[in-house]
Formats: sequence, structure tokens, C-alpha cells
Amino acid sequence: MADLMKRTVVVTGGSRGIGRAICLAFAGPEANVYFNYSSASAASMETEELVARAGGFAKGFQVNVGSEKEVESFFSKIMEDTGRVDVLVNNAGITRDGLLARMKEKDWDDVLDINLKGTFICTKTVTRPMMKQRYGRIINISSVVGASGNPGQANYVASKAGIIGFTKAVAKELGSRGITVNAVAPGFVETDMTASLSEKVKELMISQIPLGRSGRPEDVAAAVLFLASEGACYITGQVIHVSGGMYM
Ligand code: NAP
Repeated sequence: MADLMKRTVVVTGGSRGIGRAICLAFAGPEANVYFNYSSASAASMETEELVARAGGFAKGFQVNVGSEKEVESFFSKIMEDTGRVDVLVNNAGITRDGLLARMKEKDWDDVLDINLKGTFICTKTVTRPMMKQRYGRIINISSVVGASGNPGQANYVASKAGIIGFTKAVAKELGSRGITVNAVAPGFVETDMTASLSEKVKELMISQIPLGRSGRPEDVAAAVLFLASEGACYITGQVIHVSGGMYM
């Protein structure tokens, strides 16, 4: 059961990968964690169980972040449970890679709808309760490629660069209400999203990382946890790269 003395933390795409690590980073006596995911699978239950084992509370809901209707009903349930949203982590994301000349309109639309429009819809929905509270922490998961560019990912790069611009605009809009808005830009992190890369491509990527290894989901989660903490109260509109120095 949710404990009303705790902070309410919402993580989109919390069933796997980086999102699950973020849910786990908040697991403990201080937060009620709510997360969503897109496809019914055992993965979401596993996130709930892992958080419970770490002494926390987490509840997952099947929600398409690209659908305003579904997102509004998701946040209504959370507000009914706890009456507040303290932290929103816009993490849900997909790739549909391909060279621009062969990229289908649907692959462009799907990536922009989930990665960028999903971030817009979720952020817009929490704005009202956060403004009432005069407190909020919004953390958007971008990517190093949103700053550096990457061939074969024009749709994904556009969505992740869009998230950086969105973060800065919203940080300026909401700063006076006690709400900070920042982005975290992971580099190459081994999750299902990068599992299909060949060993050769992975080796090449690692050879370009000054710290000499791929990132772990927990490395990204640690930056998110910091941005949600009191220690980060004077940081807004920033992008923290968690990439082992892959991009500087
Ligand atoms: P992942 O392992 O593929 O997990 C993606 C998560 O997003 C899953 O929980 C998935 O739910 C959820 N999701 C997908 N579409 C959704 C939708 N329409 N509505 C709600 N949830 C949805 O990916 P990841 O590697 O952890 O990536 C997490 C974030 O980090 C993404 O924004 C990604 O772009 C970013 N990132 C990743 C890397 C990397 O190297 N891995 C690098 C830079 C940035 P289901 O389980 O139901 O599919």
C-alpha cells in the first residue's frame, strides 16, 4: 500500500532496463514508486517485486505514454492513491533505426510519438499538481546522440534533441513554482534496447569511451536520484551526460 508520508515518484517505462534501475534507486522507506510500461509481460511484476524486496512500494500500469487519454487516467489513479506527484522521470523510449533515405513515415511517427510527445504529455499532466504543491522534480531521459547526432537514427536523434530543448523551455516556465526540470543523457548502456547490436559494433563503441566500458542502468539511475534530491535544488534546465565520457 502507498504510504502518504512518502514522496510520490513516477517513472515511465519502468518494466525493464534503465527505467527499472530508476525504480530500484528510489526503492526504500522514502518513496512510493509508480511506473508504466507498454506491453503486458512478467517484467512489470518483476520490477514491483524487486522494489518490494528492497523495502519499497512500486506499482506498475500498462499505459501508452503517447496517448493523452491513457496518461491522464494513469495520473488520476496516482492522485487518488497519494494526492501528489513529487518526481516525474520521463524514461519510456523506443528506437526504429534506419537510414533516412529508407525511413518509413511510421517509424518516424512512432519514435517521435513515444519519446518526445510522450514526454510532453506526461510533463503537461503533472504540471498542475506540481504547481499547486509549489514543488516538483522532472527528469527527462535524453541520449548522448541527441547532442552528437548518429547515422541511422534520424528519428531517435530528433526525439532526443527535442527532449533537450523541451527540458530547457519547461525549466524556464516552471522555475518560479519551485519545479526543476533537467535531462540525463545516457551513452551506451547494455539493455534490451542495445541487445541487438553486434559484438563488433559494441566493441567499436566501447573503444570510443574514455572510461573503457559500457554503462550500467544503475549508472544512469544514480544521476536521476541525484537530480531528484535536495542537493540538486539549485540545478535546472541542465543536461547531465552519463556516458563514460563518450561525448564531451
Ligand atoms: P528498454 O530496455 O527497451 O526499455 C524501454 C522501456 O520503455 C520499457 O519499460 C518499455 O515497456 C517502455 N515503453 C516503450 N514504449 C512505451 C510506451 N509507448 N508507453 C510506455 N512505456 C513504454 O530501453 P532502455 O535502454 O532501458 O532505455 C530507457 C530510456 O533510456 C529510453 O528513453 C532510451 O531512449 C534511453 N537511452 C537508452 C540508452 C541505451 O544505451 N540503452 C542510451 C541512451 C538513452 P515494455 O516493457 O512494456 O516494452
